[in-house]
Amino acid sequence: MVDITKSDIKFLPGVGPHRAEILQREAGISTYYDLLYYFPFRYDDRTRFYKISEITGEMPYIQVRGWFLRFETIGIGVKKRLTGYFVDETGTLELVWFKGINQVQKAYLPGIEYVLYGKPVVFGGRINVVHPEAEKVAEFDKRNLVSGFMAVYPTTEKMKNAFLTSRTIQKLVALVFSSIGGSLTESLPDWFVARHNLMHLHEAMTCVHSPTNNADLAKARYRLKFEELFFIQLNILRLKNRRQAVVRGFVFGVVGHYFNTFYANHLKFEPTNAQKKVIREIRNDLRSGKQMNRLLQGDVGSGKTLVALMLMLIAADNGFQSVLMAPTEILARQHLESISAMVEPLGLKVTLLTGSTRKKERAEMLEGLKSGSIKILIGTHALIEDWVELANPGLVIIDEQHRFGVAQRAKLWAKSEIPPHVLVMTATPIPRTLAMTVYGDLDVSIIDELPPGRKPIKTVHYYDNRRDALNRFLREELAKGRQVYIVYPMIKESETVDYKNLEEGFEYMQRHFPQPQYLISMVHGKMKPKEKQAAMAQFVSGQSQILVSTTVIEVGVNVPNASVMVIESSERFGLSQLHQLRGRVGRGADQSYCVLMSGVKLADYSRKRLETMVATNDGFEIAEADMRLRGPGDIEGTQQSGLPFDLKIANLGRDTQVLQMARDAANEIVTDDPLLENPRNRFFVQKLQRLSKSNTDWSQIS
Ligand code: ADP
Ligand code: MG
Repeated sequence: MVDITKSDIKFLPGVGPHRAEILQREAGISTYYDLLYYFPFRYDDRTRFYKISEITGEMPYIQVRGWFLRFETIGIGVKKRLTGYFVDETGTLELVWFKGINQVQKAYLPGIEYVLYGKPVVFGGRINVVHPEAEKVAEFDKRNLVSGFMAVYPTTEKMKNAFLTSRTIQKLVALVFSSIGGSLTESLPDWFVARHNLMHLHEAMTCVHSPTNNADLAKARYRLKFEELFFIQLNILRLKNRRQAVVRGFVFGVVGHYFNTFYANHLKFEPTNAQKKVIREIRNDLRSGKQMNRLLQGDVGSGKTLVALMLMLIAADNGFQSVLMAPTEILARQHLESISAMVEPLGLKVTLLTGSTRKKERAEMLEGLKSGSIKILIGTHALIEDWVELANPGLVIIDEQHRFGVAQRAKLWAKSEIPPHVLVMTATPIPRTLAMTVYGDLDVSIIDELPPGRKPIKTVHYYDNRRDALNRFLREELAKGRQVYIVYPMIKESETVDYKNLEEGFEYMQRHFPQPQYLISMVHGKMKPKEKQAAMAQFVSGQSQILVSTTVIEVGVNVPNASVMVIESSERFGLSQLHQLRGRVGRGADQSYCVLMSGVKLADYSRKRLETMVATNDGFEIAEADMRLRGPGDIEGTQQSGLPFDLKIANLGRDTQVLQMARDAANEIVTDDPLLENPRNRFFVQKLQRLSKSNTDWSQIS
C-alpha cells in the first residue's frame, strides 16, 4: 500500500512541477495526504438547473445546460478580456474572463453540451457570469450519479490562474482515491472508533469529498473534527499531567507577618467575595508542593492587582521573591506606584525594571536581586533579559498576559531550577471553547464580581458629524471636575497617517478646549519614556483634564477621576480592545461614559461590533461576540499562544459540542493512564509526536 504522506503531489496525473509548486505555496499541499486533508468549505446543491431566461443578478449561483456559441476578445494588454456567449433554448448568457483567455478558448468547444456554473452579477445593466466553471454534460452526469452535492474547495487567485479550480481539486482528490486502490488506512484504533461511535476514516473521507446525503456528511465531518480536537485535548491533558507528576513546586506553607499586617492595618477596603475566593484557590496551589500554573481572569476593574499583591506578600512570608511583569512601561510604573504605596509601610523593598532603567541602576538592582533584599520586582519585557538574576524567585505574575507570547513566558520560567509558581492575569475574557484549547493546561480562577458601588458605564455611538454634540457633552463633564481620555488608533501599517490624525486631533482639541481653562496632555509610542511619564503624571495628578493618546493606555491605567473615554475611529478597533479601553473609566463612584466615534459609512461587520459594545458591558459576552464575528484565529493572544498543530476542519468558534466530546474522550484516557504509558495508548503518543510540528516542549509553557 502506498504511503500517501510521502507521495509527492507533483506525480499525481495532471499536476506536474509547476502546479505542484502553486499547490504547495497557496494551499500548503505537498503530498497526496495533504490533498485529502484539504477540505471543502461549502457544498452546493447541483441538482437544480436554471434556464437562461430565469436568471437574475440576485441569485447566489446558477447552473445551466447549454452550448458555447462564440468568443470575442476586447481590449489589449492588462485590460484585455474575453467575452463568451453561452446559449440554451431560452436565451443567451454573457460570460467574462480576465485571465487564462487562451486556455478558455481552447478548452471549451462548440457543438458540445456543457454544464455551466457560476455566480451571476449585473454589470452595465446586463447579467454576466465572471470566470464560470464549465464541464461537459457527459462528464457531469457520470460524476453526479450519486448525489447533487458538489464540494466547493477554497482556491486563491493564483490557483485559479493555473486552472486549479475547485472543480480541478475535486478531480485530483478522486485520482488520489483511485491511486490508493483499496481503502484508506484507519488512523484511529478500532476500539476507539467503536467506543465513540465514529465513522471509519475511509468512509468519512469519501463522504466529505463527495457526499451522498446530509446525514452521512454530518457524520463524516463529525468524525474528522472529533479526531482533530481529540488530539489537541489529549496533548494538553498529557502535558498537564506530566508537569504535575514531574515538576516540583515551592511550598508556601505559611501566611505570616507581611500578609497579616497588611490585611489588618493597611488594606483600604474589604476584598470582594470573588477576590477572597480566588485567593483561596491560589493559596491551595501554593502549598500543594506542585508548581502552580494558573490563569486569573477578571474583567477590567475587578481588582486583580490586589490579588497579585496579596500573593506576593505570601511569597515574601515564605522567604521568596516575586516578579510582576506588565506589558507596557506605563502600566509597570503604575503598578510600582500603587504597590509600593501599599507595601512600603511593611518594610518590603520593591523595584522597577524597564527598558529605560539606566546601566548604573541596573548594576545596583542586580545586587539587591541576587542578595534577596529586593522582594518584589516589577517590570516590562526587560525582566526576561539574560542578566537578570534572582536569589530565590518563587512567584511570577504576568499581568494582561494577552500581550505576551508563549516564548516570552517560557523564558521567564527558564530562570530557575525549580520553576516558580506562575499566575497569568488577564482582563480579556476568553470564550470557553478557546480557553479549553489554548489554555487547556492551565487551571483557571475567575473574579466574577466588581467592587461594590460601581455604576455600569454608559456607552454611546456617535458618527463623526456629531462632534459639536460631543464637545458640548465633554464641557459638561469637565465642568464637574471630571477628566477625559481621547484615544486614537495606531497601527504599524498606517503609522504615518495615524500619527497625523493623532496630531490633528490634539490640535483640534486645543482649539476647542483652550488654555488656561483647560490643559491637554498627549501620550504616544514615539515619545521618549521620560516625556511619556511626564505627560501621564500630568493627567494622573489632575493637572491636565484631557489626555489625547494612542492605545498605550489600553491596559491597566487607573485614574479613578477620569469618567469619559472617547474612542476615535472606533470601527478600526477589535472588540476586546474596545472593551479594554472602555475599562479605563468607571473606576470611581461617578457615572462614566464611553463614546465610540466612527465614520458615517460603516461596514456591516463594524456596525455589529459597535452595537455589541453599546449593548453590553459584560466582557464574556463581548468575547463570544468577538469570536463569532472574527473567528477564533484572530482573537488577541491566541495566535502567538498557538495550537500545536493546525486545525483543518474543526472550528473552535462553532464546534463547541464536538470539542466537549473530544475533551471528554481525552479525559477518559488520561484518567486511566495519566502519562500515557499503557501499551494500548502508545499509538496515541506516537501520533502526537508526529503531529507536533515543532520541538517546542509545550509543558514548559505556562
Ligand atoms: P484590574 O482587575 O482591571 O487590574 P485593578 O486591580 O486596577 O483592576 O482595580 C481597579 C480599582 O478597583 C482600583 O482602583 C482598586 O484600588 C479598586 N479595588 C480593587 N479591589 C477593591 C475592593 N475589594 N473594593 C473596592 N475597590 C477595590
Ligand atoms: Mg490590571
